[in-house]
Amino acid sequence: MANPEIFKKVIAHAKEYGFIFQSSEIYDGLSAVYDYGQNGVELKNNIKKYWWDSMVKLNENIVGIDSAIFMHPEVWKASGHVGAFNDPLIDNKDSKKRYRADVLIEEHREKIQEKIDKEVEKAQAKYADKFDKDTFLATNARVLERKQKIDSLTERFQNALNSNNLEELKQIIVDEEIVCPISGSKNWTDVRQFNLMFDTKLGSVSEEADIIYLRPETAQGIFVNYLNVQKTGRMKLPFGIAQIGKAFRNEIVARQFIFRMREFEQMEMQFFIRPGEQESWFEHWKKVRMQWHLALEPGNGKYRFHDHDKLAHYATAATDIEFDFPIGFKELEGIHSRSDFDLSQHQKFSGKKIQYFDPETNTSYVPFVIETSIGLDRMFLSVLSNSFGEEKIDKEDGSSEIRTVLKIHPALAPIKAAILPLIKKDGLPEKAYQILNLLKFDYNCQYEEKDSIGKRYRRHDAIGTPFCITIDHQTLEDNSVTIRYRDTMLQERISVDNIKAIIEEKVNMRKLFEKIENR
Ligand code: ATP
Repeated sequence: MANPEIFKKVIAHAKEYGFIFQSSEIYDGLSAVYDYGQNGVELKNNIKKYWWDSMVKLNENIVGIDSAIFMHPEVWKASGHVGAFNDPLIDNKDSKKRYRADVLIEEHREKIQEKIDKEVEKAQAKYADKFDKDTFLATNARVLERKQKIDSLTERFQNALNSNNLEELKQIIVDEEIVCPISGSKNWTDVRQFNLMFDTKLGSVSEEADIIYLRPETAQGIFVNYLNVQKTGRMKLPFGIAQIGKAFRNEIVARQFIFRMREFEQMEMQFFIRPGEQESWFEHWKKVRMQWHLALEPGNGKYRFHDHDKLAHYATAATDIEFDFPIGFKELEGIHSRSDFDLSQHQKFSGKKIQYFDPETNTSYVPFVIETSIGLDRMFLSVLSNSFGEEKIDKEDGSSEIRTVLKIHPALAPIKAAILPLIKKDGLPEKAYQILNLLKFDYNCQYEEKDSIGKRYRRHDAIGTPFCITIDHQTLEDNSVTIRYRDTMLQERISVDNIKAIIEEKVNMRKLFEKIENR
């Protein structure tokens, strides 16, 4: 469920603790562009590693590439982006704010669903043990009426999207009496198409320069390298190519922190298969990608599949993995069955034969593709917002305080262990450095000697450090330290010789990978 208060807190926390800064902040910032700070970059790199290794290391038939951001302008004609990478936009004449018409309608539909959810909650509270949800949903008049409203709206909306009928999109907004969230008015302009690609010029003499685009997705870099990789890697179908890289979109609605940015990163994998096998591979990748998310143990009910309202004309199936962000359930990842559309288009536009000779059938054909595409920044936001917590701690003197803690999965945590000498003298810093030197080859650790030990614990709770290692006078005598666990705040006395094993057990990604199916 949407929780704007938590969202505000997460944004403030991300800045205060060096995760995310507004781009060019000292110049008042650049809208929908963000920089990752000292802790943010570590978390981001760990997410990348988790994704990359789950694709490239775990699957012997998936390899990675790193293609350039700039590509030949024909690529974007072939892919359809020059002609059709548009969003339908609409302006509110009173607030002068611009919206995506499709998003306004989707959010309106979501609100009707939320009303149904509330009815269920109310009835559940009223009837307690006697409550049967399925019967309630199937019989309650108000619920049925709302459900019917959602169904008819969905049908109308899908038809409008599929026929690119901009007047109809506007009419839906008018008929549903959707108001501008800022001005509260229904004073809308017509719906227009807006191309999302940024362009720039290649070459130093601008008059002669050609327009080139900043890629709006990384996938095309994979398609145009299909032949290179297949031949040089002697790849046999089915096989995949993975890539992580920047993408750029001139988003109309860009007011949701790193959820929707104008410069962002994608992690995409194109899986090339025999035509006819798309259904089973689509199901396979749906399952595997969901396992990848669930391995992080985000808690129950955080993810759901959402099938697309509008299928691209070449697509045979498409679904989103949605996450329960503090702004509501929203798309985190897309899984698409794209037929042979992309490779065929590049074959047509480049004039080069892009085919696979299948030794088993003795035939040549253009492979089909299943794509998995996840936004790295959205994944980052899901991890950050899901791990953010405020806990009431009762103190010994009877008072209480709030501890802010990021319960990030240890494998993704920016810093794995904090090395803390109890005081700054008596040889404790020297001993602490010895321990740091033991661990730093394997783990990102942080040495800290400033402030009381309690304050240092809190600081590390706030950035999600799973282990704090405290060095005191006893350490000098018997080589033991106190290890404090972030999630439980429990403290234990252990030997220095055991630190590594305890950290390793929790931060090694192997445990995550073991929960993901391979075939
Ligand atoms: P949306 O409907 O939210 O605009 P999309 O369907 O256009 O997303 P895709 O083209 O399928 O998105 O891109 C794949 C993934 O890239 C998305 O699931 C999302 O995680 C990420 N992504 C897309 N646009 C952005 C953006 N502007 N900022 C951050 N991440 C993005």
